[in-house]
Amino acid sequence: MAVKRLKITIQGAVQGVGFRPFVYRLADELQLTGWVINSGSGVFIEVEGSPDNLALFLRRVHDERPPQSSIHTLEQAQLDPAGYQQFEIRKSDEGGETTAIMLPDLATCPDCRKELFDPADRRYRYPFINCTNCGPRFTIISALPYDRPNTSMKHFQMCPACEEEYRNPADRRFHAQPNACPECGPHIELWDHSGQVMASHEAALHQAVAAIEAGKIVAVKGLGGFHLICDAGNSPAIRRLRERKHREEKPFALMFPDLSLIRQYCHVSETEARLLQSSQAPIVLLKQCLPHPPGLSEEVAPGNPYLGVMLPYTPLHHLLLSDLDKPVVATSGNISDEPICIDEQEALQRLHGIADLFLVHNRPILRHADDSIVRLIAGREMVMRRARGYAPLPIRLPSAPPPTLAVGAHLKNSIALSVGKNVFISQHIGDLETEASFNAFQEVIDRFKEVYRTEPEIIAADLHPDYLSSQYAREQNRPIHTVQHHYAHILSCMLENEIEPPVLGISWDGTGLGDDGTVWGGEFLEITQNDFIRRACFRPFRLPGGDHAIREPRRSALGALFEICRSEEEKHYPSELWQSFSEPERKTLFRMLSRGINAPLSSSAGRLFDAVAALTGLRYRNNFEGQAAMELEFLLPDAPREAGSYPLRVRREKNSGKKSLLILDWAVMMEAIRNDKQQGVAAAVISAKFHNTLVESCLDVAKAVGLEKVALSGGCFQNKYLTEGVIRRLQAEGFRVYWHQQAPPNDGGIALGQIGAVWRLHQNK
Ligand code: ZN
Ligand code: ZN
Ligand code: FE
Repeated sequence: MAVKRLKITIQGAVQGVGFRPFVYRLADELQLTGWVINSGSGVFIEVEGSPDNLALFLRRVHDERPPQSSIHTLEQAQLDPAGYQQFEIRKSDEGGETTAIMLPDLATCPDCRKELFDPADRRYRYPFINCTNCGPRFTIISALPYDRPNTSMKHFQMCPACEEEYRNPADRRFHAQPNACPECGPHIELWDHSGQVMASHEAALHQAVAAIEAGKIVAVKGLGGFHLICDAGNSPAIRRLRERKHREEKPFALMFPDLSLIRQYCHVSETEARLLQSSQAPIVLLKQCLPHPPGLSEEVAPGNPYLGVMLPYTPLHHLLLSDLDKPVVATSGNISDEPICIDEQEALQRLHGIADLFLVHNRPILRHADDSIVRLIAGREMVMRRARGYAPLPIRLPSAPPPTLAVGAHLKNSIALSVGKNVFISQHIGDLETEASFNAFQEVIDRFKEVYRTEPEIIAADLHPDYLSSQYAREQNRPIHTVQHHYAHILSCMLENEIEPPVLGISWDGTGLGDDGTVWGGEFLEITQNDFIRRACFRPFRLPGGDHAIREPRRSALGALFEICRSEEEKHYPSELWQSFSEPERKTLFRMLSRGINAPLSSSAGRLFDAVAALTGLRYRNNFEGQAAMELEFLLPDAPREAGSYPLRVRREKNSGKKSLLILDWAVMMEAIRNDKQQGVAAAVISAKFHNTLVESCLDVAKAVGLEKVALSGGCFQNKYLTEGVIRRLQAEGFRVYWHQQAPPNDGGIALGQIGAVWRLHQNK
């Protein structure tokens, strides 16, 4: 049979996952000759052999590819035979378009875990063990293609034993770029708060473990940055951590030594167990079982029925947790919402006064990656913070827009860069409130442009001119495309679900600038080919003090009640709410409300949650964003199944031109909540009726608008009860409902939606 030669180009997540050795072994088995090479734009293969074996090769490349890889495109062309004598792995090619995909960091694989705890293994208890199936990627890569000289491992010269593994195509560590061992690789040290070395190697680990057991706070340099770690059963230690970190009530994440221990404290479904043990190894929000065994302090997540839980994902974490044999608090090494520390010298300064000791190592972290957070909603995973393990895997567009940089919004910022059809979404950066976060934001943009060798032609930014991200966009000397916030939310949901207009988008969050200059946040948008029509929203009310209302739900309650009664008399307000303000405070706030000064109009669903939380007396002040709304949700398991709902009036706003705007008027509902509260109805019941009312309002509008596809986005759809309720009710009435899985529903997904807006515009030109 005549010999044929095939040229194959594969794009996708194919670097750093053992793809080349896999191709080598397969070609060898099928007696094919030729070569495979990694380049910036993917993996190139040439294979020569019998047509039957070539066909088999193509099929098996697809079917048997390494578990961590994904193939986006596989192109093939037939060529005349070249007469290759053997199959070989060629050296990487430097030039060319960089569209290869930078892989996320992968949690320690079972094989490496076994070796880590095997006294006979040469890497026994070595904190940097890894192989082609696991280990650092994104956080150690400085450039593509992914080869050792392009990583922070370049300064470590492999010893002969490691070199041998690295060169042996049959070895699990063949071309494992961060390959290392105790002889030649990085090591750990324990430092005191001034940077003095107290111990190194195994002794450092022992002393760190002892310190945690003694109630100390230890800063641990991990994969994508520093953690602050302390004993999760030690309340004074956790209280100290809260004080030092300026984090009063926001829940802390936990790391457990193993799954069986997690099951003693939390309900873990099959899907949740799979997520915890996946190579992404995110923080998973799990429902606590109550009462659970002792060993976990109340201070971890005060008043919260959920716990954010993860398993060890680096060898160092495995060693620490196995020696401790109990759960620890493992929270980002930062002050409040600043970016996580990645460098030990920087950590000594920024975490000074927070950490008692520093467990560090000498493998540089090149970019930060926080722990990702996921939650199970409607039986599927929903990524609420997209960072380690997920970033920067791309979302594919059906066609390529001009190279676009999207700078995201203001809170929970992430950025995105389009390169060809790929949209690379950055890791979670944080709230752009401080200089440190703004620097991190610029740094991430610069590194993204560098790694993907892309200079954007268009910058997409939020419509809000005052966001630091928008200001940055204006300084770039490039055409700017501004995108309305809630439109961006819906587009991100549509992109990841690969759906086309017409779509009804339900976009509910805390705040975003509308195109009429008011604050939006409870929006129903009809998505058209390259724009949107606002079809419905909540009745707007004034927020006295503007952004201060975000921190004080009681201001939303006052604003909402004032909107209904237009009165400054005490009898119109519940006395508890009334008394939560001082006399002068009330005077100031009523002045703002009645004159409309420093009291912007808002249709935000998030603020409606706040108002209800304050009205029921649940919470007047937020210690962190969204706290009041979360607490309303947390009451729900205590509510009776059929609590019913409140009346909500839908009226048609007379609108000159286009389609009319529906107003969801919550006035009657608010009155009813007031009455329920006065009559002593349990807050859990009020919360359930309120949630049910919102669910019904979605159905009412969906019916009125009459589009089959409905997309849900915005921070409010992190609420499990609300989201699952809307999905269930709409599906029961024949609507096709789409929600987030990969991109966060909160503002972490905005950058993707901004690219989507540019793409739609160019596609429909
Ligand atoms: Zn491994
Ligand atoms: Zn070695
Ligand atoms: Fe938003």
